[in-house]
Amino acid sequence: MAQAHHFSRDGVRLERMIRDDSHFIVSVQRCGLCSQAFVSVFTEYIDWVASQDAQYRTVLPITDAEADDLVAGRLSPHRVGALGDGRRHLQSDWPSGAEEPSVYWGSGVFGVRVGY
Ligand SMILES: [Zn+2]
Repeated sequence: MAQAHHFSRDGVRLERMIRDDSHFIVSVQRCGLCSQAFVSVFTEYIDWVASQDAQYRTVLPITDAEADDLVAGRLSPHRVGALGDGRRHLQSDWPSGAEEPSVYWGSGVFGVRVGY
């Protein structure tokens, strides 16, 4: 699942938007090269003081059945963090004030939070 070509994002495309709020964006992505499905969770926190909004993004490989459940609404986007159990996910953290995001592999269950 953790194929090198997924780092580049070249082959990974948006398949279906699940939630598209300004501070909480969840989508199903699909790799055009190997057909692997992913869920992408993006959370943003407005920094009213310094205008450096904190942004966090998690990309987790999911099965086709899990992608179908998300699209059909059988799986809440708030619950996808539980799917991380036993899997690696690509995490991008860009806290307020940082010059650039830190991108790294995480593993296990992760929290899904709605930004503001
Ligand atoms: Zn792929």
